[in-house]
Amino acid sequence: MEKWNNGKVTTGKLYIVPTPIGNLEDMTFRAVRVLKEVERILAEDTRHSRIVCSHYGIETPMSSFNDHNAAQRLPMLLERLRQGAEMALVTDAGTPGISDPGLPLLQAVIAAGIRLEVLPGPSAVVTALSGSGFSLARFVFEGFLPRKGKARQQRLAAIAKEERTVVLYEAPLRMAATLSDLLAHGCAGRGAVVARELTKHFESWHRGSVSELATLFQAQAHKGEMVLLLQEQSLPSPSPEQAAEMLQQVMDAEVGLGQAARQTARLTGVSRNQLYRLALARRQAEQQRQERASGERESLDQPSGHDDV
Ligand code: SAM
Repeated sequence: MEKWNNGKVTTGKLYIVPTPIGNLEDMTFRAVRVLKEVERILAEDTRHSRIVCSHYGIETPMSSFNDHNAAQRLPMLLERLRQGAEMALVTDAGTPGISDPGLPLLQAVIAAGIRLEVLPGPSAVVTALSGSGFSLARFVFEGFLPRKGKARQQRLAAIAKEERTVVLYEAPLRMAATLSDLLAHGCAGRGAVVARELTKHFESWHRGSVSELATLFQAQAHKGEMVLLLQEQSLPSPSPEQAAEMLQQVMDAEVGLGQAARQTARLTGVSRNQLYRLALARRQAEQQRQERASGERESLDQPSGHDDV
């Protein structure tokens, strides 16, 4: 069927199809129908996806498509899609693209104006969030943390300051280390949840503070797939005295008044105009102090008026 898309004529279509994160019953009727109807399924690991497909009697031909072969396979797949093929992208579990391969294909399909149809479905991030008991009004997905070095420390520091609910993916053997690192970044009392083996037979939820969960995971190794969630928090805003102190530190770095006010406003949440007025008053007071001091020095250097004979 020929259709217009973004002004370009295309015939083929790519479907993004989420698959279960453990429980095979979590396939949607639509996912099964699409996987049966497409010409080819593009799977992160064909051995893995065959288990789901055979459960639902899906016999569609399958090819592997993952980070290792994306560059090599992409031109051929795009060509087939342009010629009219309909294909479905699946990964080992959950939603393609969420800490999983798929992005280069999706970007190429969008750029080429090829039709795209996205199915909603399972993902560990949404499943863990919905059972966390934390506020879902605003949340942030951090995926897997960098394993080591400065990048990891910077990300942990940003998470410690994050006010929204935070979701992290973590490998079971690294969970204890990540919880300890969060302790070191001052998160001891923050509410946390580890959601383990979601939708599977041995699903479990561990709830407590970061400090309590660190103790639990250090005492006993836990196996299985895990999501770590950190509760939303409101960080105390600095007092006017603390804001003034920060402003002085930025001013001492010899930046312009406007920039000092802007930077401190970003750090403290205090109004930029208010900080600018304070910075101006401080600069003027400092100038007056310096003028007075140099005046006093000059008068000390002056002859006293009683010439020595
Ligand atoms: N695309 C997947 C999704 O939509 O959730 C995520 C794939 S990522 C490679 C695998 C990570 O997702 C695991 O290390 C774990 O953190 C999380 N995960 C996947 N399935 C899970 C499950 N059943 N229970 C808990 N976490 C799970």
